[in-house]
Amino acid sequence: AKEHSETSAWYSDAQEASRLGHLSLLSDLRSAIQNNELQMWLQPKIHLHDLRCYGFEALVRWQHPQRGFISPIEFIPFAERAGYISHVTNWMLQQAAQTLASWQSRYPHLSIAVNVSTNDLRDQQFPERVRHLIQQYQLRPENLQLELTESGIMENPDNAIPLLQTLRATGIGLSIDDFGTGHSSLAYLQKLPVSELKIDRSFVIDIDQQDSTQKLVRTIVEMGHGLDLHVIAEGIETQAERDTLIKLGCDSIQGYFASKPLHGNALEQWLQSLPTDRA
Ligand code: C2E
Ligand code: MG
Ligand code: MG
Ligand code: MG
Repeated sequence: AKEHSETSAWYSDAQEASRLGHLSLLSDLRSAIQNNELQMWLQPKIHLHDLRCYGFEALVRWQHPQRGFISPIEFIPFAERAGYISHVTNWMLQQAAQTLASWQSRYPHLSIAVNVSTNDLRDQQFPERVRHLIQQYQLRPENLQLELTESGIMENPDNAIPLLQTLRATGIGLSIDDFGTGHSSLAYLQKLPVSELKIDRSFVIDIDQQDSTQKLVRTIVEMGHGLDLHVIAEGIETQAERDTLIKLGCDSIQGYFASKPLHGNALEQWLQSLPTDRA
């Protein structure tokens, strides 16, 4: 009994500490946007065959003044539970729209994909906000893409599908992120108004040495193409992984093999190395 009460005392202390930590983290997150502590980093997406860059995925970074860098893996789930994720999403959408607008004369073919949370899909006003942003910044809608995780969509597909249809009608691209980890039913997959399927990194790691994973990925690629979807693989790090994905018929890749996420000067340099549409 003593042991038990000690354990629970320790446990409730730990809970309390983490609760307090999270409370201050939430107020910090609230001020993070105003204090310019969030950053949008961009990771290139490239065609598998000729390595041409056609766009980027936007990844949020939080530079906390005391705690230092906080990974999105840590603070995004927290922001979701705290009901604050829509502020992060809106901020990222705004940054992406501004950036696309600034590229319009020099790099009109480049796209930016913003990650969207399941909670955003519960907000019936979300498609209207995206439409408004496109109008405000005079964007070509096809240059903006949203990434939604497979598990997020499948949490409540009957709610997600009409919303995705409204979004797709604006002309933006929709991508199913982390595909292969989220238990889609094929019946729903066929109904999803998406344009891209993004194969999860867990299938890509050492794929050149894994026959059974290759068979699986080949099947995913063929299914994606059968549904008229662009198929991209995430987290490619090596030439051997790239060669295998070429063999399996995949369209594009994203990963450290091409580039890590970029910001500031590194991003500028990457852009300057690209062919521009101005001859
Ligand atoms: P994700 O959307 O699947 O993004 C891919 C993650 O894999 C990114 O991590 C990226 O930096 C990392 N990555 C890319 N290539 C490689 C590679 O070759 N090797 C390895 N080891 N990793 C690679 P990051 O930036 O830490 O983001 C993690 C997750 O956090 C994202 O997974 C996404 O689910 C979420 N996230 C990031 N930014 C946002 C955002 O603005 N909004 C929302 N809702 N979620 C976000
Ligand atoms: Mg993503
Ligand atoms: Mg992903
Ligand atoms: Mg992933």
